[in-house]
Order: sequence, then C-alpha cells, then structure tokens
Amino acid sequence: MNEFQVAVLPGDGIGREVMAVALEVLEVLESRFGLGLALQHHDGGAAYYRETGRDLAPGVMEACRSADAILFGAMGLPDVRFPDGTEIAPHLDMRREFGLFAGVRPVRALPNTPAILAHPRAAEIDFVIIRESMEGLFASRGVGYVEDDRIARETMVITRDNCERLFDFSFRLAERRKAKGRPGRLTCVDKANVFVAMAFFRKIFDERAKGFPDIRADHHYVDATALDLLRKPWEFDVMVMENMFGDIISDLGGGLVGGMGLAPCAEIGLEHALFQPSHGSAPDIAGQGIANPTAMLLSTAMMLDWLGERHGQESMVTAGATLERAVDLAFAGGAVPRDLGGRHTTTELAKAVIDQLDAAASAIG
Ligand code: NAD
Repeated sequence: MNEFQVAVLPGDGIGREVMAVALEVLEVLESRFGLGLALQHHDGGAAYYRETGRDLAPGVMEACRSADAILFGAMGLPDVRFPDGTEIAPHLDMRREFGLFAGVRPVRALPNTPAILAHPRAAEIDFVIIRESMEGLFASRGVGYVEDDRIARETMVITRDNCERLFDFSFRLAERRKAKGRPGRLTCVDKANVFVAMAFFRKIFDERAKGFPDIRADHHYVDATALDLLRKPWEFDVMVMENMFGDIISDLGGGLVGGMGLAPCAEIGLEHALFQPSHGSAPDIAGQGIANPTAMLLSTAMMLDWLGERHGQESMVTAGATLERAVDLAFAGGAVPRDLGGRHTTTELAKAVIDQLDAAASAIG
C-alpha cells in the first residue's frame, strides 16, 4: 500500500481545536478506506514564536517540502508580532516557497444553514473562487514603500507563466465540475477596462480558453461581480481572479453562505498543496470548544480529493467525497454549530459528521 506523508500543523487558537477533530475524522476514514496516510505533527505559530523566537520549529519547512500534502489549522495571534509590527504568517511564506499559485475557495450553501439572502435560489449557491496567490498586488508585499511621508507606491505584477498555469488549472477544475453536473463555466474576474495588467490577464485567459472548448469562458468586471454575487450568486460556477480581488471576493463568498466557519481553502501548486480553513485562530472564542469545524473538515476532504486525483487513488477520492457528503448529511440532520446560532460544540459537530459517514458512503456508492 502507498504511504502518503501529511505534514500536520495545528498552529494557534481554534486552529488546534478544529485540527483535533479533523484528525479524529481522518482516523475513521483511514480504517474504512485504508488511505495509507502517515501524519507527521509539527510545531509552529504565534504561541510557539512567543516561546522560542521562531514561527516554525527547525526543519518544518523542509518537512513540508518533502510531504505529499500539508494540513494546516491557523497561525497567528494579534498580540504576538515581529519587531517590525507585522504578525507571523508562515502559511504566506509557504505560498511563495512552494509555488502555491491557486487559492481554491469553494462556496456552497449547506443544508439547514441560515439563509443570508432571502431569495429562494440561495440554497443553490455552489461556486468556486480561484484566487491567484503568488503575485498581483500582493507581489508588492515587502517591496512597497512610502516616499517622504507623502506618497505610497505598490506595484501589481502579472506574469504570463503564472497566468497560463493558473488558467489551465481553473479550466480543468471547471471540467471536473462539469463532469459532475455543474454548468461548465469559467469566469475571468478583472478590471481590464482600466488597468494594463488586467487587460494582459484577460488576454492570456482568452488564449488559454481555446484549449478548453467544452467550458464556457466569459469575463466579468470585479465591481459588477460584487454586485452579482449578491443579486444572483447561483449563476456562477468557477471564477478566477487576481490575488487582491480574490482576497476580498472570497470573504464576500464566505459571508454569502454563513461565514468563515464554513469556508474551506486549498492552496495548490504544481508539486505541493496546503489545505486549511479560510479563518484564523479566532482568539475571541479559543479554548471554549465552540469553534465550527466545518471549514476544516471540508478542507480535509479537499486534501483527500487532491491526493487521490494526483496519485490515481480512487479510494482516496471517494473518501474525500464521503466526508463532504457526511458534512451535508450532518447539517441536514439538524447539527447546527454555535456561530450559526445552534448548540453544537466542536466535538459534537464532528461526532454528527462521523455518525453520517456510513450513510454518506452508501449514498456515494
Ligand atoms: P478569525 O478568522 O480568526 O476570526 C474572525 C471572526 O470569526 C471571530 O469573531 C471568530 O470568532 C470568528 N470565527 C472564525 N472562525 C470561526 C470558526 N471556525 N467557528 C466560529 N467562529 C469563527 O480572524 P481574525 O480575528 O482577524 O484573526 C485572528 C488571528 O488569526 C490573527 O492573528 C490573524 O493574523 C490570524 N489569521 C490566520 C490565518 C491563517 O492562519 N491562515 C488566517 C486569518 C487570520
């Protein structure tokens, strides 16, 4: 049996709490599907920095590089900072270090969750935001500057090589979703009417679209996208956009279906991938056992799907789909976490999901 090394970094605050239940669920899936996952636990985060002066334990970056996948909780505490005033953020360093160019953020309405939009079609919301994660306006991180306390300058960077792999990845994702019944549409979200960099982004998108004739490729300006995400989000399928736009639009997406506790995330590169909930360490609720673990569980399902696809392990793909379905069944069966106004603690919600794994496996067949 293949053994897949997974680097596990729980991090800080509720990152540790949601990771604990994700590992419990993985253990059940391991015994059912024989996944062959070898989990290696690593220290790091703001609390670790406070104790040791390092944000990651020695050797962790290398261990993550040689792992097959990285499973990440959350790192950072607002009162723990580098001498320059910024917060520790090893996951941002990993993006750059491992070339994690595609930030994949699915947005899907789960059963029985409070309807943020009153429209009856709000229950059909099911789209994926792909946030370019290595360049765009964020390329200016650490490079931007202020002149004489009078002018600040930041520069957006868009490169052909990065765009080509980003768009190809996005079209392939739209193809996979189409095979499962989604419309097969990829929308390039930009501001090509104003910025040369965005016109270049769109031009490369149009070039790559020619290689994927079965996918409907279209464009939408980012401001109109924000409007339409409130007016008719059920019409979107897959969207790809520049880093800063993706940063903002993905929070809007998370908000549309009930908040960060439901927002999973995969950061994908050509050789590496990191899976984490979109939320942070939530110091305001940490230690109370009430964090919503859904985003972490759905991110774990994405990891299984990615590993399975990459290594041709059908049972791993099925395990990921089973976990995702079990989350839906748990919500459909009345599990409601605290952040959505319910009574389920972190462990109770995880138990509700585990209790549905059999039913989910039979539904998937
Ligand atoms: P946050 O996501 O931690 O919390 C924002 C709000 O959402 C809080 O009210 C919190 O209670 C709530 N929330 C978030 N996740 C939840 C969950 N699973 N269940 C229930 N409620 C949840 O964002 P923040 O407060 O801006 O950041 C806190 C710390 O986390 C900061 O130090 C920040 O730098 C760090 N952070 C880390 C990551 C990461 O590791 N990827 C991402 C974002 C923020």
